[in-house]
Amino acid sequence: MKHFHDDFSALLNGFKLETLENDPNSIYGLSVGLALNYLNAGWFDFAKENQGEPAISERFVLGTYIGDAMSGSVRDYYLEAFQNVLQTGKVWHHDYECSSPEKFRIYHQSVYPLYNRQGLIIVNSLVKEHPLETDSRTPCQPIRNLYTQETGFITQCSNCRRVQLATRQDVWDWVPAWVEQMPENTSHGLCQICFEYYYEFKYPQKK
Ligand SMILES: [Zn+2]
Repeated sequence: MKHFHDDFSALLNGFKLETLENDPNSIYGLSVGLALNYLNAGWFDFAKENQGEPAISERFVLGTYIGDAMSGSVRDYYLEAFQNVLQTGKVWHHDYECSSPEKFRIYHQSVYPLYNRQGLIIVNSLVKEHPLETDSRTPCQPIRNLYTQETGFITQCSNCRRVQLATRQDVWDWVPAWVEQMPENTSHGLCQICFEYYYEFKYPQKK
C-alpha cells in the first residue's frame, strides 16, 4: 500500500525517510493544510495490535484532513496545537493516555515542523505501561442502562477512555469491554481530570 505522498520526502530537511521508516514508533506526517501525507510501518503495527484494523486504515487515508480523523473534545486542542507548530516552527511535546483493556499506557507525542514549516512529523512513543490491576481503576460491566445519557449517547472520555455514569455526571467508570469495542452510540467528551490536563497544555501560563 502506498504510504506517503511524493512531495513528502522533499520536506524532510534534517530527517531521513529511512530513519522514519525503520522507527518502531508510530509516526505520521501532515501537510501544511494538515492532511495526512505519510504513515510509517510502526503506525500500521500499532493499529493492528490495537484491533483498530481495518477501520483505522479506512479512516486515515492519505490526503485525509486530520480533523476528520479525530473526534470529540480533543479535536480542537490538537488542531490548534498543530497550527501553532506550523506558525512558530517550535516543536511541541506532550503526553497522552492510550490504554488498552488490560494495560494502562502513557504515550509521549512530539510534533516537529518540517522544512520551511511546510508540514509536520508526529512521533508517538510509549513511555509508561503497567497492568491496570495495579492502577486504581476498577473494571465495570458494560451495562447500557447505567451509562446511556438522556441524549441517548454513551459519553467516553477522549483521553482516558472511561465512560460517564448517567446518574452522576462527575463519575467516570472504567469499562474494559467498551475500550475493546465502543458501542455504536458513543460520543466523546473529556472527564474533569483530563479536561484540566488538556486545558493546562493549552494555557500553561494560567496556572
Ligand atoms: Zn479522562
